[in-house]
Amino acid sequence: MSLISPNAPTAELQALDAAHHMHPFTHGADLAQKGARVITRASGVWLTDSEGERILDGMAGLWCVNIGYGRKELAAAAARQMEELPYYNTFFQTTHVPAIQLSARLAELAPGDLNHVFYASSGSEANDTNIRLVRTYWAEKGQPERQTIISRWNGYHGSSLGSMSLGGMKGMHAQGGAVPGIHHIDQPHWWAEGGDMSPEEFGLERARQLEQAIEEIGPEKVGAFIAEPIQGAGGVIVPPATYWPEIQRIVKKYGILLIADEVICGFGRTGNWFGSQTMGITPDIMTIAKGLSSGYQPIGGSLLSDEVANVISGTEFNHGYTYSGHPVACAVALENLRILDEEGIVARVAQETGPYLREKWQALADHPLVGEAQIEGFMGSIALTPDKSARAAFASDAGTVGYICRERCFANNLVMRHVGDRMIISPPLVLSFDEIDTLIERAVKSLDECHARLKAEGLM
Ligand code: PMP
Repeated sequence: MSLISPNAPTAELQALDAAHHMHPFTHGADLAQKGARVITRASGVWLTDSEGERILDGMAGLWCVNIGYGRKELAAAAARQMEELPYYNTFFQTTHVPAIQLSARLAELAPGDLNHVFYASSGSEANDTNIRLVRTYWAEKGQPERQTIISRWNGYHGSSLGSMSLGGMKGMHAQGGAVPGIHHIDQPHWWAEGGDMSPEEFGLERARQLEQAIEEIGPEKVGAFIAEPIQGAGGVIVPPATYWPEIQRIVKKYGILLIADEVICGFGRTGNWFGSQTMGITPDIMTIAKGLSSGYQPIGGSLLSDEVANVISGTEFNHGYTYSGHPVACAVALENLRILDEEGIVARVAQETGPYLREKWQALADHPLVGEAQIEGFMGSIALTPDKSARAAFASDAGTVGYICRERCFANNLVMRHVGDRMIISPPLVLSFDEIDTLIERAVKSLDECHARLKAEGLM
């Protein structure tokens, strides 16, 4: 066996990576030409690469490292659990202590009567579970025709076939097609699609598409509506204030299940434990993952209300993953939840660092390249535009300008992602006041550089 040394020159690591490693959501040939940045370690909110550069992680990995990197308590929890019971399943009338403890803790933290958890290893798996849960629930209730699930264009629910189909990413649907039985309505994205309407009018209009869709499909055929409280991968789109109350009214009127996909919004991201609390909604099912373990272990799940769980428990639900309720993942998640709680990290986002970041982030709207700046807790977005007053899009293909801006950020050692021509952040919840200042300074520098380049190239 010949393993390359971790201290090998960056170019050698990159070449071997390009030769054998297929990257998710990546144009492989383009990346192979350029070489992937090799991340070697991380601490707090800082990544270090193979050249020794320190990079401020404005995305908490993939929206998941809520407690920040390098917490030894989580490593210790994993090691302890691996020594004691590295693996056992809960399929055949057995259970184990980490799954018992984590389930009880989640029931305590979750709002309302979301007291039951079905585990998965990721958000995608959990949303696949949700499709089967909804359909099984209605079949058990004697309404098996309630198969259709309504979701939204530009929502993101995962990458497996089922969860991808729930999602509304057209580029994903185009590669291989989606499964039937899922109906998409438009997103509440006022900046891009609101036209002449006020945000409030537009929020209502988009919510009422749900009612129209239910009426068109037939209320007796609709099982559930799924949405992210705040769209994440779609571009951190905070819906107008009128949107969620109207959605809640409609799902109640027709008695369909509401699934809140909390994979990003959960575990403190919006300043509450769950985005549903921030948006004032009462879901029947919540999808959780990411911040549940701060990404230290792969774990996700579906939190179910008493009613849904009671119905599902009345049958043998023929579903489960080898790693559902993995003991090491559960032990690490528990330790993560302890730290989030005992160190007051969620409360700090709500009361201290969140408001500070909000003020600085919203001031970015004064930059000539920035239209709106949205932020809720520790997830924010800015719309890049050639003309703020017209809420105009760039003439270039969507994403061209966003990519240029993202490249400037990366060059300035700030990870900020772009979705089309929208820039987004979702930093670790432990970001300090000083680090917020650094993040904003680097963002402004990158925006200035991007702006100068666009002007030089006649793109604005
Ligand atoms: N739902 C939402 C809202 C997400 O943001 C994501 C991942 N970005 C997923 C589901 C899928 O999670 P995973 O990548 O863990 O499968």
